[in-house]
Amino acid sequence: MYLPYGVSDDGQLIYIESIGRGKTTLRCPYCNMPLIARKGERLAPHFAHDGKTCREVKRSGETVALPVYDSFRLHLSGKAWDALRRFHDESDDGDCYWLEDYGLVKSFITPYGNKRYNLTHKGKIPFGDLSLNLFNQFQEPLIRERYETLERVAWLALGQESEATKLIDLKLFRAQMRRILEATLYFVEVRTGEGVLHKIGVTTRPLEQRIAEIRHDLDPYFGTVEILSLGTWMHRGNVELYFKHRYRRFQRVIGRLTEYFAFDDIKRVLSDLRRMKAKELTDIEREVLNGEASSVERRILQPDEMLSPEAWYALCHLTKENLDRRYGIWHELHNFTWKGQHRSLIEPIPGTSSYLPRRSAFGEVYHAAFAAVYKRCSIEVEAPA
Ligand SMILES: [Zn+2]
Repeated sequence: MYLPYGVSDDGQLIYIESIGRGKTTLRCPYCNMPLIARKGERLAPHFAHDGKTCREVKRSGETVALPVYDSFRLHLSGKAWDALRRFHDESDDGDCYWLEDYGLVKSFITPYGNKRYNLTHKGKIPFGDLSLNLFNQFQEPLIRERYETLERVAWLALGQESEATKLIDLKLFRAQMRRILEATLYFVEVRTGEGVLHKIGVTTRPLEQRIAEIRHDLDPYFGTVEILSLGTWMHRGNVELYFKHRYRRFQRVIGRLTEYFAFDDIKRVLSDLRRMKAKELTDIEREVLNGEASSVERRILQPDEMLSPEAWYALCHLTKENLDRRYGIWHELHNFTWKGQHRSLIEPIPGTSSYLPRRSAFGEVYHAAFAAVYKRCSIEVEAPA
């Protein structure tokens, strides 16, 4: 996978785009190896190890990447991409019967009884044909799903060998979410002596500061320019790259600057931007934006994952008396369910028919991981009345 973050000496995650290329003082979040910032022409910017790449970063796939954020080919195979392109460019629907299985096209029956196909929202993304508003609606659930998967996987890895790796995966994904959520998307008009240009971008600072920098960037090319804000959209860092993809035909490259456009119909672009619904933050997103640690790191238990005070006490002190204190304690410990999986907290002592069990491997993990939580809830480790 592409490593997008390195860890600084003070433990902060530093994003690849916020530092220059070459050797860095940052380290790999997984293995602590020094990192080099790779910013070539061909591959997306990423960190490489200054030495042997660790197993965690060698993993294939997009584990910690934001879905449909910086690559819009949707990881289609060459064959699927070709077939989709032929349908889009040449109306050749010969392969649509199987493209439908990928959710890229959808069939319908015409009033004359013929079967025809349309591109779905997903199928429109590789061509940039999906509006910005619908793009948000398509991407948001994908981000949410990947987040939930990573969180669940991290919870299930509790006490296992992979625990540290899964927790870092979750942290890196949260860092990615935070980066797009704390960004404000802006769109400005730039009046130069040679005509009008438009610029898309994101910033976490007041727009006036950013505009002063833009003026400075453009000075060598156009001299003094007039800059007018046409809109800002909070928490919409997710859209910037899709916007560039959607309007790539109108891009006007100025030296090394790639965020400028010369549009022939600016009204259409403005209405595309203005149709985007204001971002409503979910509880998780608000938490991520505030820089809080994940529920896994904070050891937050759901109500149905909390034992009754008597069962917790019995787990802490496994004696016959404590297990018999109330009917059902044994059952509660034995049939414990963790993130949808049956994970008994106790098991019989092997080689005996003893009624008295001991903690299972997961029982040990649970006991160690959540003792502080029970203590915070004032469920003290002493015999309940
Ligand atoms: Zn590493």
